[in-house]
Amino acid sequence: MHIVVCIKQVPDSAQIRVHPVTNTIMRQGVPAIVNPYDLFSLEEALQIKDRVGGRVTVLTMGPPQAEAALRKCISFGADDAILVTDRAFAGADTLATSYALAAAIRQISRDLAVDIVFTGKQTIDGDTAQVGPGIAKRLELQLLTYVSKIESLDATRREIVIQRRAEGGVQVLQTKLPCLITMLEGTNEMRFASMENMFRAARYPIRVWDRAAAGIDDISKIGLKGSPTVVSKVFAPKASEIRAEIIETEGNEARDLAVTLVGKLFTKHPKLGEAIVKQAA
Ligand SMILES: Cc1cc2nc3c(=O)[nH]c(=O)nc-3n(C[C@H](O)[C@H](O)[C@H](O)COP(=O)(O)OP(=O)(O)OC[C@H]3O[C@@H](n4cnc5c(N)ncnc54)[C@H](O)[C@@H]3O)c2cc1C
Repeated sequence: MHIVVCIKQVPDSAQIRVHPVTNTIMRQGVPAIVNPYDLFSLEEALQIKDRVGGRVTVLTMGPPQAEAALRKCISFGADDAILVTDRAFAGADTLATSYALAAAIRQISRDLAVDIVFTGKQTIDGDTAQVGPGIAKRLELQLLTYVSKIESLDATRREIVIQRRAEGGVQVLQTKLPCLITMLEGTNEMRFASMENMFRAARYPIRVWDRAAAGIDDISKIGLKGSPTVVSKVFAPKASEIRAEIIETEGNEARDLAVTLVGKLFTKHPKLGEAIVKQAA
């Protein structure tokens, strides 16, 4: 079983701020981490490897510093890591990113056929959730999104059964491999890195691919040239001016609370009573 896990290095969004005047993202001093959603995918891939054997390759497209994110994944137990990096990828939107990653996965398959591709549900910076489906479409893989559990995997029959979160319930789907899975958050708990894997990660010779090594000839499909998306504005939403209020009641709590709330509503909106009477008439 050969599993490719796509991971993205992202700025820790908990520490990001938007510049109040220029409305640009202030990245200075913000630590880079592995996109947290991708760790659920990596853990799921490692669990499959533990159960049925195989190989887990982590893949990222990003600047040279993204190598650190790949090393982190090796320390958790991934077998191999590939960094796809080239100035030609700069300015890529989700269309161009999924094109480049799909090309790299095709290249990876030349050495060893890929059975499952994992991506996270979304990233915490771009947040579009488009890259996984984009890769699946380009590689013509069965697409399983919002997966909450892998029920079974039959490596011999090349069949997988999963549960996915759907509106109003859970869907159970069965399909043939190869497939692409986008894992939901909270589905598992990332294992600790062992000392042995940490040493291995520090020394691991990460494979670095430029555009040509990733098998991309057509530069009109990558980077800014291959990106039809235009970001017209980035802004920090205004903080709400409404403050939460603690209301204390005694006696019949539910009734008292309702009376207090309705009273407050009519005090705040003095014309509300009139409007209700008008509407009812
Ligand atoms: C016009 C435009 C210009 C941009 N220019 C730049 C730029 O110059 N530099 C820049 O850093 N970003 C740039 N971006 C952002 C970039 O397009 C996104 O970061 C990228 O396409 C991924 O989209 P996302 O973060 O929404 O991922 P999602 O679709 O939310 O990600 C889903 C999953 O796909 C996988 N994935 C996503 N991205 C990668 C990746 N790079 N490598 C491996 N796996 C991945 C992960 O598993 C992730 O969980 C630009 C965006 C636009 C619209």
